Amino acid sequence: METGKSKELFIRAQKTIPGGVNSPVRAFRSVGGTPLFIQKAKGSYLYDADGNKYIDYIASWGPMILGHAHEEVVRAIQERAANSTSFGAPTELEIEMAELITGMVPNVDLIRMVSSGTEACMSAVRLARGFTGRNKILKFEGHYHGHADSFLVKSGSGMATLKIQTVPGITPGVAEDTLTAAFNNLHAVEEQVKKYSGEIAAIIVEPVAGNMGCVPPEKGFLESLRALCDKENIILIFDEVMTGFRLAPGGAQEKLGIRADLVTYGKVIGGGMPVGAFGGRKEIMEHIAPLGKVYQAGTLSGNPIAMIAGITTLKILKENPSIYKELQEKTRYLQDGLEEVLHKKNFPFVINRFGSMISLHFTDYPVTDFESSSQSNMERFSQFFHGMLEQGIYLPPSAFESWFLNNAISTRDLDETIDAADQLSIS
Ligand SMILES: *Cc1c(COP(=O)(O)O)cnc(C)c1O
Repeated sequence: METGKSKELFIRAQKTIPGGVNSPVRAFRSVGGTPLFIQKAKGSYLYDADGNKYIDYIASWGPMILGHAHEEVVRAIQERAANSTSFGAPTELEIEMAELITGMVPNVDLIRMVSSGTEACMSAVRLARGFTGRNKILKFEGHYHGHADSFLVKSGSGMATLKIQTVPGITPGVAEDTLTAAFNNLHAVEEQVKKYSGEIAAIIVEPVAGNMGCVPPEKGFLESLRALCDKENIILIFDEVMTGFRLAPGGAQEKLGIRADLVTYGKVIGGGMPVGAFGGRKEIMEHIAPLGKVYQAGTLSGNPIAMIAGITTLKILKENPSIYKELQEKTRYLQDGLEEVLHKKNFPFVINRFGSMISLHFTDYPVTDFESSSQSNMERFSQFFHGMLEQGIYLPPSAFESWFLNNAISTRDLDETIDAADQLSIS
């Protein structure tokens, strides 16, 4: 596959952009090689600067759940753009979005729109602290909640990929207020809660983890967190930036039947535009300014173009709940196919899947937390990644990322992907 143009662009990009990318995981650092510069995408396919075509399993890290350049979404954006792209004043679209979300997801009375998942999680934690009057939060190792200071402790995603343990620039005070525990380990959580009794404002969790590969919650784990939070008056925050509107119309809360106190959204909620949101029960959300004193704001929050892209996407999902069944069936088909061809090869592997999130680790052991994810064979993952890319299959360039299926992916695409894995000669 000829990728000369991407290589040229990458050299040029590095002269004016740190590392040539605007978000670290894009740089292919852990798998090596040159990132592909993308020119366009349609349905399930990406086209790079050299005109090569790829089946896309990243979906912009989740948002493009309907496939790329979905006609209704594109048309809605075009129509709105003609009426100006921003006002800095309220619009009816924002009400429509809030009504749509509160109608789709359980347990959210009030919702505030922001422009990224990072902002959503950062604001939810501030609110939890303001509401409880406590300072500490507890997060899980290998979970990622955006790049706000308090989350960059034992973080997943790019931090794990780049093997960054502590981040220069984050003050010891902030780091001390972030407690961590292993995912799926209730005992570790209970120990922290006991040790810091009355000091923990919130426990924030990815209900189905997707930033250390896909790692589902073990039976009873989230239920136990819920009970523990109730007992200790700790705010339970579900970070549904990845799982919201992806696992079900009502996200992980609906799919798993557990209610969080605050929920954060991003990715799918913007239909490919920069959007995030946080919401929850009225008595907590009423502490946000201008109702309360917990300040939070944004010049472009609720931007009309971002709202219409999100509303159009969410409405399609709401009106066609069969999409979730189709996505799940496609993902299971992929898992079955990959397992069949990889079993013929001479190495151990584990495929984790939940709904339309799936990931592959080269390891003998079940992947249930950050440690087991980290112990998988990264060298073999790099070989797998490049071998697939060479055959036109675009996967996340790290074992610390989930793959996301989009509904434009066809059975033929899946068969092609499984065949590509069959063709691989990796050691
Ligand atoms: C992507 C992600 C974020 C951060 O969202 P951004 O829009 O990149 O700031 C937060 N939490 C989770 C679970 C994510 O996957």
